[in-house]
Order: sequence, then structure tokens, then C-alpha cells
Amino acid sequence: MTKPLVYITRTISSELLRQYEENFRVKMWESEDTPVPRDVLLKEVAEADGLFCMLSDTIDAEVMEQGKNLKVIANLAVGYNNIDLLTAQEQNIVVTNTPDVLTETTADLTFALLMATARRIVEASDYVREDQWEDWSPFLLAGADIHHQTIGIVGMGRIGEAVARRARGFGMNVLYHNRSRKEVAENELQAEYVSFDELLKRSDFIVPLAPLTDETEEMFDAKAFDKMKESAIFINASRGQVVNEDALHEALSTKKIAAAGLDVFTVEPIRSDNRFVTLDNTVCLPHIGSSSVKTRTEMVHLCCENIVAVFQGETPKTPVT
Ligand code: NAP
Repeated sequence: MTKPLVYITRTISSELLRQYEENFRVKMWESEDTPVPRDVLLKEVAEADGLFCMLSDTIDAEVMEQGKNLKVIANLAVGYNNIDLLTAQEQNIVVTNTPDVLTETTADLTFALLMATARRIVEASDYVREDQWEDWSPFLLAGADIHHQTIGIVGMGRIGEAVARRARGFGMNVLYHNRSRKEVAENELQAEYVSFDELLKRSDFIVPLAPLTDETEEMFDAKAFDKMKESAIFINASRGQVVNEDALHEALSTKKIAAAGLDVFTVEPIRSDNRFVTLDNTVCLPHIGSSSVKTRTEMVHLCCENIVAVFQGETPKTPVT
């Protein structure tokens, strides 16, 4: 019997895939850095039994209609806002994601971005590289404190809790807002549940970590930035679309808020002339939340294990429900 065919939308090293050779054949887009063009994806998916895709691929009804044999779509991400779940369900295609394995790595990055933004680390490094350091001075590149400040996490889920644990280690007060209360977080992390508005008003650091949904889209709009402290620092490592970028840019450029650290943008990638990159109070990263070698390797294996499970008629480890 011919083995099922999996189309992978980027190049993944054959070393990582070797152990699945017995379970499926692989065809992939021959680039690690650029996404598969839409016309190639539509052509390749027509032959595939499984699709292994990235958060940068839009997997909509058109793709699924072309993929007549598709049984599984494995997304190399915990977020799945790039996939039309309703169509997948209608067509009996199982969708899987990669929760848990990336939680701690993404929390590390979120906290690193918070620290880099507050203490102006990127600016300070550029200052030395560009030979601007002539003398010591009392307020040279003085930033904001992190320890004993208040962090407000919107979306106290897996990553939110992992960020809260780091924040507690720095003696920070933790506020959070979810649709539902999480007693575990309140007991173990002494996190205080507050309304969205109260979180905006009281936090020194505001950190969205909720998924992108119809409800969270542009949750951070002009009204939200108006409620924040002038000294507030906004750190976004969730999805760009949870923010109204015009409102964020206005708040940063008029110093309505102090600074921002952004790992995600509404349209990615961004270039060096992007309006956030050119602001001196903003740190921009290229969506690298879960990007450690170990974690990305585990994410690849989880995608493959999920694909194998579906081909074997089993329930995958991490289905999107
Ligand atoms: P999770 O465990 O599902 O946590 C999400 C939390 O958001 C839940 O506690 C949920 O609580 C809350 N939430 C959902 N809708 C909300 C709303 N309307 N208002 C307030 N809170 C809401 O997800 P996770 O694994 O922590 O991942 C979170 C997100 O991080 C992902 O969806 C992804 O977009 C992003 N992410 C980014 C990177 C990166 O590279 N930058 C890497 C990994 C993940 P309730 O249901 O009680 O509201």
C-alpha cells in the first residue's frame, strides 16, 4: 500500500523527519525562509493526505476544497487563527497545533522583550556599537524599573501563567484579566483578577497573551491606550491583530504611553522603514516567541506525531477543538 503523502510548507531538515519515513512520504516547499506561494500550495495540497503548515500560511476554504484527500492539518504554532476551523470541521479534517511544548520558551522571550524595552537594552547596545559612548553620566540611557512594578496580563493561559511566574521572581505584583477566573493562578502566583479597564489603569507593564479571536481583535484600541498610565510599557508577543496599530502608534509617538516591545505585527514581515521600527521608544522583533532550537525541534516532532496518529485512526496528542 502506498504511504500517505504529507505536504510541508517550508523546508524541514530530513534528519528531523527520518523517523517518520515508515509512516508517510513527504513533499516540501524548498525554502526555509520564504513561504510557499499560494498557487504552489493550491497545486500541492491537491495530492496531499496531510498538510504540515506554518502560522504564515492562510489555510482557508479554497485550500481545503483543493485538498480533497486531506485528513489532517498540523500547524507549527499554538495559535491557529490562520486556519478556517469551520471548513475543516465540515470537511472532517483534523486540525492540530503545538501547545505546551512552547510555553516556557515563549514566556522567556516575552519577559526578555519586557526587560529589553524597560531598560533600553537595544538602544544601549546601538549606543556602544555606534561609538556614541564618550563618558559616564548620571542619567545615561536611564530606563524604567521592572522589579516591584505591576504587570497586567490579558490572557492568563499557559504562557500568561509562565510569564507571571517570571514576574513573581522579580517581586512584581501580578494583575490579570481573562473571561473566566483562574483560581490556580490566584493561589499559586498571588495574581489579582481585575476587569480589563482596571488592568489598563493600574499596570506598569501591559502584556496581552490571549489568542486572536473575533473578541480579542483590536481589543487594544485608542480607548484602551487612553486609560493606561503615561509611564506604561506595552509588550505584545501574542498576535499583531489584538492591537489597533494606528492607535498604538499614536500613543507611542505622542508619549501617551512610554514604550512598547513588539514581537508580532498585523502584517508580517515588517521592514526597517516600518513606523514602529523608526520610533525610538519601541523594540521590534521578528515573531520569534517560540524560537529556540530545542522548542522548534519539539514542535516539529509534535506536528509529525499528530499526523501519524490521524493516519492511524487515533486521536492526535494536541487536536484543536
Ligand atoms: P491558552 O493557554 O489558550 O491561553 C489563552 C488565555 O487567553 C486563556 O487563559 C483564556 O482564558 C484567555 N482569553 C481568551 N479569550 C479572551 C478574551 N476575549 N479576553 C481575555 N482573555 C481571553 O494559550 P497559550 O498557549 O498561552 O497561547 C496564547 C497565545 O500566545 C496564542 O494563541 C498565540 O497567539 C500566542 N503565541 C505567540 C507566540 C510568538 O511567537 N510570539 C508563541 C506562542 C504563542 P478565558 O478562556 O478564561 O478567557
